[in-house]
Amino acid sequence: MKVTLLGTGTSTGVPMIGCGCRICRSTDPRDKRLRVSVLIEHEERNILIDTSADFRQQMLLHKVTHLEAILYTHSHNDHLAGFDDIRAFQFLMRKAPACYADGPTAAHIRRTFDYAFGAATQAGGGLPEVPLVVIDEQPFDLLGLRIIPVPLIHGMLSILGFRIGGFAYLTDCSEIPEASFPLLEGLDTLVLDGLRHKPHPTHFSISEAVLVAERIAPRITYLTHMNHDVLHKQTERELPESVRLAYDGLSFNLE
Ligand SMILES: [Zn+2]
Ligand SMILES: [Zn+2]
Ligand SMILES: [Zn+2]
Repeated sequence: MKVTLLGTGTSTGVPMIGCGCRICRSTDPRDKRLRVSVLIEHEERNILIDTSADFRQQMLLHKVTHLEAILYTHSHNDHLAGFDDIRAFQFLMRKAPACYADGPTAAHIRRTFDYAFGAATQAGGGLPEVPLVVIDEQPFDLLGLRIIPVPLIHGMLSILGFRIGGFAYLTDCSEIPEASFPLLEGLDTLVLDGLRHKPHPTHFSISEAVLVAERIAPRITYLTHMNHDVLHKQTERELPESVRLAYDGLSFNLE
């Protein structure tokens, strides 16, 4: 299984529109962050986590020609708004990839993209015809992989992370419920929310994320969903050896 982090930035992306701060002006490619999304390749099949606001750009950049399934963590726009561009895969594959989302996220998708789920208003417009599969906290099998939803707290919301084998993806969280920790035992690679240096009501700060990483104790942790408070080179120097900052395009292989 190959995992590629297609985006590692917070909801605005980095650089942020119109910002002239030193991180937005940084020439280090690791300080350029599209909105968060993950591509998982396994036995010639592709699974995507979230259709980010930069979905189209990410698919073009990584030359993705097929997509068999999409998992959603939650319904915030930075994770969802590429949804309409799923149509490209529908055209290519003659079948849209199935989307897996929890109840509130699926309901939000139906509301936000009502033109795709209600009665057709006009023929010929090319609607996304996406099978929406509602999941709960129970593990399920998808394309030969065991997907374990990991409940997370994101401010006042209850959202999902995912564990697949030795890999776990926990974006957008400010707390991990006690009951989720046993789901995270024996991990190899953890990708964890670490928004910025200062505390935030809906995301782990970098120092909070380091404490969580130390408790979960995977072989390696990569922090993601970072904003323009985080200069890659400088911040990484201050982290423990087993915690690194993710960057767009980072990929790794897992058994
Ligand atoms: Zn900035
Ligand atoms: Zn969010
Ligand atoms: Zn987000």
